[in-house]
Amino acid sequence: MIKAITFDLDDTLWEVWPVVERAEQLLHDWLATRYPRIPERFTPLELRELSDEVIAARPEIAHDRTLLRKEALRLAAARADYPEFDVEGAFSVFFIARNAVEPFADVRPTLERLARRYTLASLSNGNADLRLIGLHDVFAFSLNAIDVGAAKPESLMFDLARRRLAARPEQIVHVGDDPEHDVFGAAKVGFRTVWVNRTGRDWPGGPRAEAEISSLVELEGLLAAWEGGSP
Ligand SMILES: [Mg+2]
Repeated sequence: MIKAITFDLDDTLWEVWPVVERAEQLLHDWLATRYPRIPERFTPLELRELSDEVIAARPEIAHDRTLLRKEALRLAAARADYPEFDVEGAFSVFFIARNAVEPFADVRPTLERLARRYTLASLSNGNADLRLIGLHDVFAFSLNAIDVGAAKPESLMFDLARRRLAARPEQIVHVGDDPEHDVFGAAKVGFRTVWVNRTGRDWPGGPRAEAEISSLVELEGLLAAWEGGSP
């Protein structure tokens, strides 16, 4: 008996990279008007890559993508000789644009139908804001790596979800696009696993998910088959 379904967000419910790149460009434009030496010195991609330096210096914050972005911006401001820098203002330009994602057309109708039968939760390594995106109402709760303190594939987020769902691992299905974070991470704690492969990627190796789907619409039939009944 399946009781609950947990969903990854980025690249599972919407395509994230074009939106992130646009958000990085908007931030770059904002910096050009207020702190011009920063965009003169760093491209949007170089600003993003400063996060790698932050992680190397402070691996304990690697799971917190919001803090990483802010620390990378502080580093850029320091290198461009701005001792005073509005990091919250800069981050909010990025963050608002980063949440301007468009869920795939199958997402809301499918989640609304599934929510009548199962408890739904979201488990994300990113910093998406489901209220800004307008999908918060279909989930019973949402966990992310920042609040939990550890990113998938570590077990902590899955364990917290299982406890909150008051379900056994095999009663929970995790659905996500990332072979390591989602499929490996969820399988390790005993959840059932569904790999969302919208773009026809090859499986990278290692134990496969129990099922593979190319759109969320397939999920309803799959769950009905697993439960041995009609949808
Ligand atoms: Mg994802």
